Amino acid sequence: MRYLFGSFLLCLVASASAQPVAIALHGGAGTIERGKMSGEVERSYREFLDAAVTAGHRQLQAGDDGLDVVVSIIQRMEESPLFNAGKGSVYTWEGRHELDASIMHGDRLDAGAVAGVTTVQSPIALARAVMERSPHVMLTAKGAESFAREQGFPMIAPSYFETERRKKALDNYKRSRRAGRDVDVDYKFGTVGVVVLDRQGNLVAGTSTGGMTGKRWGRVGDAPIIGAGTYADNRSCAVSATGHGEYFIRHTVSRDICARMQFARQTLDEAAATVIHEELVHAGGDGGVVAVDAKGNVALVFNTAGMYRASIDSTGQKQVGIYGTAP
Ligand code: ASP
Repeated sequence: MRYLFGSFLLCLVASASAQPVAIALHGGAGTIERGKMSGEVERSYREFLDAAVTAGHRQLQAGDDGLDVVVSIIQRMEESPLFNAGKGSVYTWEGRHELDASIMHGDRLDAGAVAGVTTVQSPIALARAVMERSPHVMLTAKGAESFAREQGFPMIAPSYFETERRKKALDNYKRSRRAGRDVDVDYKFGTVGVVVLDRQGNLVAGTSTGGMTGKRWGRVGDAPIIGAGTYADNRSCAVSATGHGEYFIRHTVSRDICARMQFARQTLDEAAATVIHEELVHAGGDGGVVAVDAKGNVALVFNTAGMYRASIDSTGQKQVGIYGTAP
């Protein structure tokens, strides 16, 4: 009896002290309104988000490294035409695809990023290679592609990224612009991002995107900018952003959320809400973030009509959502 009681106590202590894990992901924020999407399309998004967050959580529970989890779940999203990342990326004004991605590890603040790549199937995998196998943080366009080839990444035909839906979005965008009308298509949303707390207690964040429909002149958004679209620091939080990149760059959104936790002692929810619902709204920037802190709390915060999102926090509570109302 005493032995049984002893092992029961040991189990309790072990589970109380086990490093918790948590994951949150997004597939873009924007004018995603109830009733505008067919039931079938909505179902495919929900099923995808649910399966992706469940798979990532399982990997974390099994003790997989946070970097592996972030990269594998983002790759799953890059391969799906549902999102504006990898296959399914939006078109530039010239009808091309220029992809951006970044990743950051919160232990030593290691980071890697690529911008404007056109022939690499998985920009997030390349961003990780920049972090782990180069002395740099960020590589762009042709240089990033030479590095990819040197590292043995296969070159793919740019036509791999084409989809009918995004081509139509570009045509609509151009028509509106030429007619001097407001752009009525959702031209800048659909980026993907994943943040995790792994069994080793490390926070990791990653983001991948095709950017904004109709972008020109080598425009680069926030997604590959460390501190804007992506940030991770074990002392505070890991953040991945989606939205109108120019605002996220100016407001260094991801770093600001982490800094508020670290220096102003705000909670994750407070920090994310202040930046997304106050700072950004005041400036006119729309979008949102997913974030996780060192205790495994998660925050899914956006100031748009919706954000494709899913999370499982340290208590195992799962959320999957598309629409929402901003507080
Ligand atoms: N933040 C991305 C960009 O500005 C777009 C998005 O998240 O939808 O490139």
